Amino acid sequence: MHKHKSPINLSTIANNRIKILFDTALLNAEDLDYSAHCISEMRKISSHHRIKLDKIMKESFCRKCNNLLLPGKTAKVRVLKKGNEIVYKCTICGTEKHIIRGIMH
Ligand SMILES: [Zn+2]
Repeated sequence: MHKHKSPINLSTIANNRIKILFDTALLNAEDLDYSAHCISEMRKISSHHRIKLDKIMKESFCRKCNNLLLPGKTAKVRVLKKGNEIVYKCTICGTEKHIIRGIMH
């Protein structure tokens, strides 16, 4: 008898969970504890399954406290003089995230 592997593999499930957790965090952005919890779970799955997060996902939370970085709410944003580097400062723990942009729109 052949052993068939399920067509849905584990990394597909993990990928879906990552997307769902990210969406849930965004939908619950007002609830700081809950959204940080979702981001934390998302990061656990991503490191456990060695799945890289999308750039947009990686840029959207504080790597230290998992706070969603929402400009004007949970993040202070400033653009450095060069114009291609944006700094998000987490208002919860103060960690800064530097994001290098290509051509600005
Ligand atoms: Zn933080």
